[in-house]
Amino acid sequence: MCTDFRRDLIDASRRDGTGQTPGCMTSDLTDLLRQVRACTICAEHLPAGPRPVVQVGPGAPIVIIGQAPGRRVHESGVPWDDPSGDRLRDWLGLDLETFYDPAAVAIVPMGFCYPGTGAGGDLPPRPECAPEWHQALFAHLPGDRLEIITGAYAQKRYVADTAATVTETVAAWRERLPGQVVLPHPSPRNNRWLTRNPWFAEETLPAVRERVRRALDER
Ligand code: SF4
Repeated sequence: MCTDFRRDLIDASRRDGTGQTPGCMTSDLTDLLRQVRACTICAEHLPAGPRPVVQVGPGAPIVIIGQAPGRRVHESGVPWDDPSGDRLRDWLGLDLETFYDPAAVAIVPMGFCYPGTGAGGDLPPRPECAPEWHQALFAHLPGDRLEIITGAYAQKRYVADTAATVTETVAAWRERLPGQVVLPHPSPRNNRWLTRNPWFAEETLPAVRERVRRALDER
């Protein structure tokens, strides 16, 4: 139901054809995003072909590092345009307009293109993507940005204690603030995890929403 609204927001931010809002992006970032959107590095492994889905504005105080687009997001070109995105926005306390504002929220998944589906669901993000693009994109974000890490692949790359399980890492949320928040993947398939870990909704999410609000207020 909200897809048209999301697409309007994305279209508004793509008026110059590069994915940027005219006049508010550095030329370096504009060029970089042009390169990202033209990327074909792992095209031979992408059954639906390359279609990088990424959102970055200069100085965005929040970056969401997730997994990779699913088929629905591949088709819409709108990041988190699915039930997982609805839940993630609820977890973060963000409305659609703020979530899709590149100056507020950067969305930089582990793989920018839909990797296809295997017997167990969507395939992992392509391993070429994060090493190729992440650091160059993150260089346009503030050093004191809030990183929202969601899913096992992003956790493995960006959370120091890789020996811990997702649950152990999420449970240690107090140790990671103010710089990082680690979330389970917000997929509806994780409902059982949420039921088993009621502390997440009762204690973690209120603190996460407060930290997100502060990051936006301090811009
Ligand atoms: S997944 Fe990443 S590395 Fe592969 S084609 Fe897409 S943007 Fe390029």
